Amino acid sequence: MTIASQPAVFLDRDGVINEPVHDPQDGRPEAPLRAQDVALAPGAVEGLAELARTGLPLIVVSNQPAAAKGKVAESDLAAVHARVVELLAAEGVAIEDWRYCFDHPDALDEARRDCACRKPRPGMLEAAASDHGLDLTASWIIGDTDADVGAGRAVGAATILVEHPKTAHRRSPDLVADVVVGDLAAAAAWVVGAAAR
Ligand SMILES: [Mg+2]
Ligand SMILES: [Zn+2]
Repeated sequence: MTIASQPAVFLDRDGVINEPVHDPQDGRPEAPLRAQDVALAPGAVEGLAELARTGLPLIVVSNQPAAAKGKVAESDLAAVHARVVELLAAEGVAIEDWRYCFDHPDALDEARRDCACRKPRPGMLEAAASDHGLDLTASWIIGDTDADVGAGRAVGAATILVEHPKTAHRRSPDLVADVVVGDLAAAAAWVVGAAAR
């Protein structure tokens, strides 16, 4: 049996689908750590709806190290995930697959310090490709940081950088994406245009 190989659209979560939230511990906008802090980002619903019309699988790939670093419980991260899903469902948006890396080099548990899935490593994309029969070199990744661009580069995917104004501290001028846009709606328009060519 052969599995048809198709492109997918990989999406980062924080700063693309939902708004970053001010983290009192490091003073910067990072992942929301409480369900009540989740708010969808401007252009996210519009962009996801447009991407869904392409028929390509939409797969979220997100680094979530806060529990590994001891900042919150794993159940808090699960609650944030559930809230994002809930807010999207209320807008009629469904994501095919959610993939999270819960590891970090500073993890309290040594077993979580080194992994193949923390972006910019490509483990989440590769695992999704294996599970869904995806052609990674024909896929896109949409994210707001160098880690997203790096993960996409590592598998030969096209990279779209969303320059969320609150997460500029996670972007360097050295790593240039294939496309640079302001929000997910603009990213989706680019994917749709490229898919039509
Ligand atoms: Mg992000
Ligand atoms: Zn990981």
